[in-house]
Amino acid sequence: MTLKPETALLHTAHGDVQNFEAVQPGTFRASSVFFPSMQAWRERDWTAKSGYIYGPHGTPTTFALEAKVAQLEGADHCLVCPSGLNAIALVYITLLRPGDELLVPINVYTANRTFVTQELMGWGINVSIYDPTDLNSLTFTDRTRLVWVEAPCSMTFEYPDLPALVELAHRHGALVALDNAWGAGIAFSPFDFDVDISVHALTKYASGSADVVMGAITTKDKSLYDALKLCYMRLGLNVSGPDAESVLKGLATLTLRYHAHDQSARTLAAHLRNSAKVARVMHPALEDSVGHQFWSRDCRAAAGIFSVVFDGRFSEADIDRFVDSLRLFRIGFSWGGPVSLAVSYGKSVATLQELEGELVRFSVGLEATSDLIADIDQALARL
Ligand SMILES: *Cc1c(COP(=O)(O)O)cnc(C)c1O
Repeated sequence: MTLKPETALLHTAHGDVQNFEAVQPGTFRASSVFFPSMQAWRERDWTAKSGYIYGPHGTPTTFALEAKVAQLEGADHCLVCPSGLNAIALVYITLLRPGDELLVPINVYTANRTFVTQELMGWGINVSIYDPTDLNSLTFTDRTRLVWVEAPCSMTFEYPDLPALVELAHRHGALVALDNAWGAGIAFSPFDFDVDISVHALTKYASGSADVVMGAITTKDKSLYDALKLCYMRLGLNVSGPDAESVLKGLATLTLRYHAHDQSARTLAAHLRNSAKVARVMHPALEDSVGHQFWSRDCRAAAGIFSVVFDGRFSEADIDRFVDSLRLFRIGFSWGGPVSLAVSYGKSVATLQELEGELVRFSVGLEATSDLIADIDQALARL
């Protein structure tokens, strides 16, 4: 058959990359994936994720990313999701049915709480709130299906007794899902603590560039993985090849960056604690932080994020001015990127104890620590 040039252009050199090996697997993007024959098409197993069937179900780029995130977390299976929040929602949607009971910590990540109250409760899922620092506050029924855990809590950084929480939940026949945005697979290995599912916000430290939004779910349990994977496929979720490639590049330097963020944040946290204008610094590596003993028992590192409660004599307007006068700390959501961030949440955050003053959360980037200290000092001086 002699082909016209425009046809030949579409039917030559599709390539087969099986023997290509390099530091990065390359950016594959596809909707259609070719099958060699009808028989191969008939024999495909779209649920297996063992081969290439349809772009959204996996390309060499997303398979490589899932394998690396599973390895990072010490899990056997991983699904990369369009966002960290989406990964949280997928766990809920997969596991919970009307009449089931879910336990969530009182100070859970705000967007998680909104999904729970606005969607899950509307679907007839019963939600019970617990205090992560008090094991007696968890109430179980014979319908308790899932306990959600954060280590530490999102805004106030209380570090829970994770092994005791997991043991308690398992004793009552409930599964445990951990939001591992903070630990990022570096501070501790979630499956050492027997959690059933870990949710990773790749948006944060794994990406590291503040330009990709992505999440991941990891587990060691094949049947949980299968249930999550089928729900993922039915919902039509997928991540783009270029975004997956960005996160793969981020993973190559994750450990170095995480420890750099950690060291700088600890220095800044200690510096701020010495200020007479500050009432409290919430950072699990500080001895007077709630749950510090569990953090030092269970963790190898801490993230670059902490909160400060200012002295009660300062008003919301005073603290807004403090944040506005920071030069290097920019005002913005998310964290884990190279540029430092600070936001005043005032007294609006859900906490275990009432706040004596305005709360400011700092996310420490990769600037020189001495420059960040100088920036904080000049802003404190104006307060
Ligand atoms: C940011 C964050 C998430 C969600 O990640 P996104 O990718 O931004 O949706 C989940 N949990 C915690 C604790 C977070 O800080």
